[in-house]
Amino acid sequence: MLKSGLKTHTEPVPESNTQFDAIVAELAEIDASDVEKKLVVAGYLDHPVEDMRCLECIYYLNHRKWCNLPEINLPAEPEWWCRLWRI
Ligand code: SF4
Repeated sequence: MLKSGLKTHTEPVPESNTQFDAIVAELAEIDASDVEKKLVVAGYLDHPVEDMRCLECIYYLNHRKWCNLPEINLPAEPEWWCRLWRI
């Protein structure tokens, strides 16, 4: 989906825990099978933003190439990014 040009919500990037939690709450409302909507709301990109990428994110499982944030719970490549990136 990302390779085919899916436009995701890369902004606003959360600047507080309250804003972060609001996006997570929005993700939690999405049916687990609706992968496209989860990608859009999380703001998935198939490339890093500045020096931020999944590989360094606290939610990333490198051995599985997986985003382990429960409300996302989707595959991710090390060089990808989303607006919930955290270290
Ligand atoms: S929260 Fe975002 S940046 Fe972090 S591992 Fe998941 S998809 Fe990647």
